[in-house]
Amino acid sequence: ENAARIMGIPFPKMTMDQSVQVLSKVVEKEQTGLFHVVTGNPEIVMSCQHDKQLRSIVDEAGLVTADGIGIVMVSRLRGGNLPERVTGCDLLYKLLEAGNQEKWSFYFLGADEPTSQQAAERIRRDYPNVSILGRHHGFFNEEEEVKIIEEIRAATPDFLIVALGAPYAERWIHKHKEILHAKIAMGVGGSLDIIAG
Ligand code: UDP
Repeated sequence: ENAARIMGIPFPKMTMDQSVQVLSKVVEKEQTGLFHVVTGNPEIVMSCQHDKQLRSIVDEAGLVTADGIGIVMVSRLRGGNLPERVTGCDLLYKLLEAGNQEKWSFYFLGADEPTSQQAAERIRRDYPNVSILGRHHGFFNEEEEVKIIEEIRAATPDFLIVALGAPYAERWIHKHKEILHAKIAMGVGGSLDIIAG
């Protein structure tokens, strides 16, 4: 078996490096449709137990990562043996590193305005070859949402990073996945707050 089932959710047995490789291939090849990365943290796994809609979003995802040592430990107790923890934040840093070499493009959605601004500034400084095609804070109304989606659509980023909190980010990505025109979208929780420092 190449996946460990934790409370019904299949987690592929992939290391951080393997996860980055998978996403790198998605960026390189001509994609049809958005590739959704779900960082499978305990909150999401628990919510999936009673929330069928969320469960189907996770089932449809291109990649579910083991976001949390608890998930990895449970897999080991069950003999499923996930190789390591792949948190959204660590994965984002690795993608920025790889993106700095490969010149990948990103759009950052979410967090409050100062955090969004500061995170973008840090990323520009530390990963100068990454192109930030746009960013927007995560406290928007419906009217603003339409504009944000238009902006992402026009930008066609390799990565759309969504820091709106789980599982709102996952639902948001899924709801708009047909019209977003990003190659990969990933919910990352509070990662922009961490990057902003
Ligand atoms: N956030 C947002 N819009 C909202 C609610 C939250 O942009 O309507 C941001 C918040 O500023 C923070 C992130 O989403 O940067 C959520 O982080 P949190 O650690 O609460 O989420 P989790 O790690 O539980 O997914």
